[in-house]
Amino acid sequence: MKNIKQRKKRRYTSTEEKGNVSLKKGAKIDINDLHEKLGHPAEEMVKLTGIYMKLSIRGKMDNCENCAIGKMRQKNVKKGPKEKSSKLGFCFHINIALSKFTSAGGSKYWFLAVDEATHVKCSLFLKQKNDVKEKFIPFLKEFQDTYGRHVHHIRCDNAGENQALENACIDKELGIVFEYTAP
Ligand SMILES: [Zn+2]
Repeated sequence: MKNIKQRKKRRYTSTEEKGNVSLKKGAKIDINDLHEKLGHPAEEMVKLTGIYMKLSIRGKMDNCENCAIGKMRQKNVKKGPKEKSSKLGFCFHINIALSKFTSAGGSKYWFLAVDEATHVKCSLFLKQKNDVKEKFIPFLKEFQDTYGRHVHHIRCDNAGENQALENACIDKELGIVFEYTAP
């Protein structure tokens, strides 16, 4: 027990209040499990909580789909009257984030697209942000051909790679309207 770093006592009110995490002192837990149990706080918070609860945290924090979707929702919320679509494939929210891991193939970026109405997801790993057009357009086409669903809107921030994706969609005459939100 000597090895456990002594930290100044601090209050972790928000996580303590979750209450339903019943883990014994010294229990081994995967960091991703703990992240989920605590209600998806940031990595730093998970680690601090682990120390505070005297847990033995294992593994590395992975990309969390729930967190990414949550962030996307916050970011892409339109101001003004809400018209949420309920038809499959009507509106995809897309986001590219720097992945915490580089895959064996050298992919560094994590791309996630979520359909607003159905939460159908498309998760891709990219070497470069600009690869999004080569990888995502086949998905959009397949989605259209297989399910007969037309994607009408894509909501994303106005980063260069998203604008390049829009241009590629125009080239392919996919008829998708891009709605840009502030990054
Ligand atoms: Zn999470």
